Amino acid sequence: MKTIVTGGAGFLGSHLCDLLLEKGHEVICIDNLVTGNTRNIEHINSDSFTYLKHDITKPIYFGDKIDYIFHLASPASPIDYLELPIQTLKVGALGTYNMLGLAKEKKARFLLASTSEVYGDPLVNPQTEEYWGNVNPIGPRGVYDEAKRYAEAITMAYHRYHGIDTRIVRIFNTYGPRMRLNDGRVVPNFIGQALRGEDLTVYGDGSQTRSFCYVSDEIEGIYRLMMSEYSLPVNIGNPEEHTILEFAKIIIKMVGRGSKIVFKELPVDDPKQRRPDITKARELLGWEPKVSLEKGLKQTIGYFREILR
Ligand code: UDP
Repeated sequence: MKTIVTGGAGFLGSHLCDLLLEKGHEVICIDNLVTGNTRNIEHINSDSFTYLKHDITKPIYFGDKIDYIFHLASPASPIDYLELPIQTLKVGALGTYNMLGLAKEKKARFLLASTSEVYGDPLVNPQTEEYWGNVNPIGPRGVYDEAKRYAEAITMAYHRYHGIDTRIVRIFNTYGPRMRLNDGRVVPNFIGQALRGEDLTVYGDGSQTRSFCYVSDEIEGIYRLMMSEYSLPVNIGNPEEHTILEFAKIIIKMVGRGSKIVFKELPVDDPKQRRPDITKARELLGWEPKVSLEKGLKQTIGYFREILR
């Protein structure tokens, strides 16, 4: 099985490369390193692994057969896509178009990494796949949300019009080793602050909620979806919901350096609630998260502790 992973040197992409190699795939990892880093793949020592530095908003051609394309490439943290608005829109639109073209040419199965951001600031909780979302197209987050919504639309168009075998995973907040300490997301921010003995920056009053999935669970869900026969979107995330304030307190307690909490301005259009309904993933894939928040955070804190040494 020859398999492409776009964004393969990123946080999720690199863990997916690891799993695919374990399952016996020949893996071609494509990344332009805008937010990815070759450090995430330098541990891979396998003849079945190839890394290509390439920007998929430009077409790419392969002579050999390709069986699967996992399309993960995109800036994905709010700070990244605020800093890289055009790249985010281009990779969601042109990058997805190019990868679907490749899937069509190679008769490969294609999986789009979509996001809970397609639900925007959701008015229903938990979010089911049938919910159409509440997205501000012209707000600062719109560059990511709309790019991913377009990516879902073109994926379904290729599926319906060209008969391409496609999958769409809607990824909810995921955390674990290989996240960038400075990617601005809540998990690296809070853990980094707590480890340095600094105050934790809670945005707004901290009453907004998120549900955090450990990376190994997320990757297993994505893999199972690719191997399933289901073409409509599936939520993969952990349904255990916490307020951000609760989450800050959990991290302060686990790191144990007596940090305090300070409140900062809430970013524009920051979703007030987020929690996946994972009924579909349970029924179709027999998947549900296994790693507890405590165990996952322990691993992640250990990883960041090493980095900050
Ligand atoms: N957040 C926070 N402090 C931080 C970073 C993030 O309170 O230092 C909040 C942010 O406002 C949001 C939640 O944590 O409500 C999750 O933010 P993140 O950037 O991780 O991802 P999002 O779920 O918003 O895409």
